Amino acid sequence: MGLRKPEEYISALREKSKRAEIYVLGERVEDVTKHPFTLPAVKAFEWTYKAPWDPYFYDKEMGVHLAKAYSPFINEEINRFNHIHQSPQDLAIKVKYFRKLSHKAGSCFQRCVGWDAINTISIISYDIDKWYEQKGEKPEHFEHFGTYYERFLKFLKYVQKEDIALAGVMTDAKGVRSLRPHEQPNKDVYVHVKEVADEGIIVRGAKANITGVVASEEMIVMPTRAMTEKDKDFAIAFAAPIDAEGVTLVVGRYTNDTRRFEEPNVDALPGVFPAEAIVIFDDVFVPWERVFMFREYQFAAELVEIFSSYHRQAYGGCKPGLADVIIGGAYHLAKQMGIANKCHIREKLTEMIFLTEAMHAGGLAAAWEGKKAASGTYYVDQMKANVTKQMVTRFPYEIARLAHDIAGGLIGTLPSYKDLMHEKIGKYLQQYLQCLPDYPAEWRHRVLRLLENITLSVEFLIESVHGAGSPEAQRIWMRRFYPLEEMEDVALSLAGINPEEKPERKKQKEQT
Ligand SMILES: Cc1cc2nc3c(=O)[nH]c(=O)nc-3n(C[C@H](O)[C@H](O)[C@H](O)COP(=O)(O)OP(=O)(O)OC[C@H]3O[C@@H](n4cnc5c(N)ncnc54)[C@H](O)[C@@H]3O)c2cc1C
Repeated sequence: MGLRKPEEYISALREKSKRAEIYVLGERVEDVTKHPFTLPAVKAFEWTYKAPWDPYFYDKEMGVHLAKAYSPFINEEINRFNHIHQSPQDLAIKVKYFRKLSHKAGSCFQRCVGWDAINTISIISYDIDKWYEQKGEKPEHFEHFGTYYERFLKFLKYVQKEDIALAGVMTDAKGVRSLRPHEQPNKDVYVHVKEVADEGIIVRGAKANITGVVASEEMIVMPTRAMTEKDKDFAIAFAAPIDAEGVTLVVGRYTNDTRRFEEPNVDALPGVFPAEAIVIFDDVFVPWERVFMFREYQFAAELVEIFSSYHRQAYGGCKPGLADVIIGGAYHLAKQMGIANKCHIREKLTEMIFLTEAMHAGGLAAAWEGKKAASGTYYVDQMKANVTKQMVTRFPYEIARLAHDIAGGLIGTLPSYKDLMHEKIGKYLQQYLQCLPDYPAEWRHRVLRLLENITLSVEFLIESVHGAGSPEAQRIWMRRFYPLEEMEDVALSLAGINPEEKPERKKQKEQT
């Protein structure tokens, strides 16, 4: 199959969610495709199933349909969200596609985390296999269940053929941040192996902030940090369905979330929102066929780095896409208010454009500088991916601030749509909320609401800070890998100083 129709995804998810333990506001959700808290996330995922059939996503310059890809693993056309990157062009398509997808969804579309997860596992499972091969060792479970990369390929073929919706499940509950997993007073704050059985492993623990997991069918679970030998029980990666026995999903709350219960839900525009959840693993059995890392703590740091870089690059697509919506909305409001041609408004819009394009340029640069990993998967340039995400931790806040400036205070104080349409008071609001008579007051209401909901949203602000790692994580990476000493040599040479005369280098030479 390779490409599912949106309705096929929705009906498969409906059946799965009936079996899954999903909670919202203290109550079990029967059907995620109906509940007002989970439906907006399903609608976002739905866009990723609509896109392959939509000519809007055909990129004329590149001559490719952004939402589809050819899989060399199953020799079929597949949904791009399940593709393993085969070239730098694939990595560039990813951010171009995300930008356009944001224009349709008006929200985070949430399927990217699972995509980054399968690409990560495609690299790491191969690397671990090679490591064992080079050592001349083989874990016992390889005997009957295949190596990690073999298992991964089997799983990937199923995912690609059935066009399965995946969630990427990395961030542990973490407990005390300054302590390693094995040092935690409560061991369960990091997902770990509780028991090893003949046919698989039993895992326990919890992961937090998992985007779109309620609209996904399968979860790719990965470690969240570097591990030491003592942490080896926490160094595990595996796949599990959302309805596996022992899995519970608890959906988070968002500002203004109960607006989604209203009819008509104009005050909840754009009507598509993410849903993050805490995922609890209460002694969940995972068959060996779905285990892609088991106690190889030496690879946890590499896995986290690969995943984070993929995901940091991703933000160079989706956040500029949402910023485009904000820029367009702010510009339109300025037109309605008769100020679109004023100097300071044009200046503010220009600044918003600059910030948006800078984030996108970072994502594209990380793609075009991408390299081939040993498994054959293409992988982003880590420095540029980290720089992209660092921009994303700040620029959306500035873009939101400028949009609020242009929109005026009403963006925070607008009465409800019901008041605007009220038989008695509506006529006053229609009259006093109107600016230029060319535009009905309802237009202003709708655009203000859209901007309010996006500029103050979790996905545009908080996710920009913490998604794919908090800001300091990128700064640590940049500090660690920027060739600082080398650049000091470059500067010294230009200043007419021999870098070999640097005191520490001379000392080093004397010692050797
Ligand atoms: C909207 C949203 C969507 C997300 N989606 C996903 C998802 O789909 N899948 C997924 O796996 N994760 C997801 N995440 C999680 C995200 O990756 C984490 O939030 C991020 O890695 C930060 O972890 P944390 O939230 O536990 O914050 P913390 O790590 O607790 O960070 C809080 C502060 O503590 C500091 N800190 C932490 N540890 C230390 C230390 N040892 N020493 C000094 N300072 C420290 C940090 O720098 C930061 O300032 C999402 C997050 C958000 C907000």
